[in-house]
Amino acid sequence: MIKTPCPICDKHMRDHDEKEIEKCLWEFVRESKNPVVYASRKKRICPICEKEMLDHNISETRVCVKQFVDDVESLEL
Ligand SMILES: [Zn+2]
Ligand SMILES: [Zn+2]
Repeated sequence: MIKTPCPICDKHMRDHDEKEIEKCLWEFVRESKNPVVYASRKKRICPICEKEMLDHNISETRVCVKQFVDDVESLEL
C-alpha cells in the first residue's frame, strides 16, 4: 500500500483525479528512469520504501517504480 503522499505534487494519491494520477505517475516514472537528468531538481522521496530516489540503484528503482505503478492502479478512486 502507498503510505506517503504523491512524490510529485505532495497530495495524497486518493486526492488525485484520473488526469492528475496519470500526470504524476508519468512524471515520477520519467524522473526515476533519468536520475542524472533530474538530479538537480527537488528531492524525490520514494513512495514505496521512503528513501530518496537518488539513493536507489537501478534495480531498486525498477522494483519501486513498478510497485508504485501497481499500487496506484489498484487504488479505488
Ligand atoms: Zn500527484
Ligand atoms: Zn524505493
